[in-house]
Amino acid sequence: MARNLSLLAHLPRFEADGVTHRRDCECVRCDAGYRPSETDRTDAGRRWEQRRIREAAARALARRQERARVRAVATELALGVEIRAANEEVRALRAAHARADGDPRLALLQALRRTGMPLAAALVEVERRSVGNVTDPASVGAAESG
Ligand SMILES: [Zn+2]
Repeated sequence: MARNLSLLAHLPRFEADGVTHRRDCECVRCDAGYRPSETDRTDAGRRWEQRRIREAAARALARRQERARVRAVATELALGVEIRAANEEVRALRAAHARADGDPRLALLQALRRTGMPLAAALVEVERRSVGNVTDPASVGAAESG
């Protein structure tokens, strides 16, 4: 068998694991008789396969964690938007409540309703008194007797 005298021929050739010298390796070490045995090759192959499985599992775990992280951030952002909207709604309701509380027409309407006046009639009465600016709830009794 002709010897390949190229310098490249003396560089080690490795299996896919990057460690085990191939069967056709002609490096100095292999030429000197230190070729991996079949048992070495089998063990190295098994280690390589296990390492690939572990790395694939680690990548899958990293992908799952990244997806979970993205979901958590998205949920956080959505919650932030909802919380701001809810706060705004509460603020608007409080403002509306404060306006209604300060409106003498509402107090008059409530006073009229307490006397048993139907809602439609009470609204008409409130409207009538608002025109004359007589909106004191204390005057409800007078309206009732009149
Ligand atoms: Zn070799």
